[in-house]
Amino acid sequence: MKQYSPISLYIHIPYCASKCHYCDFVSCVGNETEIKQYLLLLEKEIGMYRNLMKNRPIKTIFFGGGTPSLIPGQEMMWLMKVIRNAFNLMPEAEVSVEANPGQMNQRKLHAYRESGINRISFGLQAIQDPLLNILGRKHNAEAFYQQVTKARQEGFWDINADIIFGIPGQEMEDWLETIQYVTSMELPHLSCYGLTYEEGTRIFEMMKSGFIDPLGEDLEWLMFRKTIEILQEKGYVHYEISNYSKPGYQCRHNLTYWKNEEYLALGIAAHGYLNGIRYENVDKAKDYESMLKQKIYPVFTRERVSDDDWVKETMFLGLRLREGISLKEFKKKHNQSCLHLFEKEIQELIQQKLVWRDGERIKLTEKGFDLANQVLVCFA
Ligand code: SF4
Repeated sequence: MKQYSPISLYIHIPYCASKCHYCDFVSCVGNETEIKQYLLLLEKEIGMYRNLMKNRPIKTIFFGGGTPSLIPGQEMMWLMKVIRNAFNLMPEAEVSVEANPGQMNQRKLHAYRESGINRISFGLQAIQDPLLNILGRKHNAEAFYQQVTKARQEGFWDINADIIFGIPGQEMEDWLETIQYVTSMELPHLSCYGLTYEEGTRIFEMMKSGFIDPLGEDLEWLMFRKTIEILQEKGYVHYEISNYSKPGYQCRHNLTYWKNEEYLALGIAAHGYLNGIRYENVDKAKDYESMLKQKIYPVFTRERVSDDDWVKETMFLGLRLREGISLKEFKKKHNQSCLHLFEKEIQELIQQKLVWRDGERIKLTEKGFDLANQVLVCFA
């Protein structure tokens, strides 16, 4: 009997309680009624993929956004039931939800756990109120502490915190204090991102008008380096450019992306990769609704990934991982040798000490981690 490879599932919830200043994700302010209506549309979209997915077991689910933790507990139980009825969810599947501190209460956490969710990713960002204000965040460190404590009481152990360095006004001391705070809570996973100024965001406008000054590359670089040093000392594995975990707690869903594997993505503006095709859903609520009501897949663009792009994607996604790219796995997947295909690029990067060969793997060097964008662009 043919064995079908497991796949991941991403579900986009585009609603937030308010818009953060640095956010360029597809999200808008929404209330409970809008969210409930949206879930009914998601149910239709799930139904449309039912046959296509019947032979693909689901190994991970990620509810991202937006703020999925705005979904009320009963509705989350219902949504997970819809997913289980339509798809073949593996018993050991990782099921993650993104949450904002302050939006979860004990009842909701209980319902989420009952629904089968087993991983929570909290958007903490910083523990200093003035820095949270610059980012436009509505919570504080105390709310985060309370929610992690309650989540643990409900049996959630696989917990991540997103934290941000490079915030205007942030000093090294602030950043170290934030790291100290999250590590003292023994969280098994941390995502540590550098702040970016995307055009169209409020923080970009604040910078343009001179209201805030970016921190400067040197200090940001020092913060990045200090993060690696401290977290490694505390037993975290720096397994991807921005991600750290205690052994056994890597985010399996995100590994799907970095290993260039396929995933189904549902919801407004969701991007998926299925049967060799990358697709993007429509990003307007009214288009999403009207297409689903007409039983049309709410897809805006579809593109078959060429062999040329496919091998490049495997390189620039895989090099983000500290374990790098396995030459054997690359050969098995693409039926070609990575060293042969990218001989010139790899030789140059080795000469510049940005990548190195570790047995049967190609990996970023420490210098390569500092200049990751420069390396990855060679395969874009
Ligand atoms: S909560 Fe997340 S998705 Fe929503 S506005 Fe803030 S950063 Fe964007």
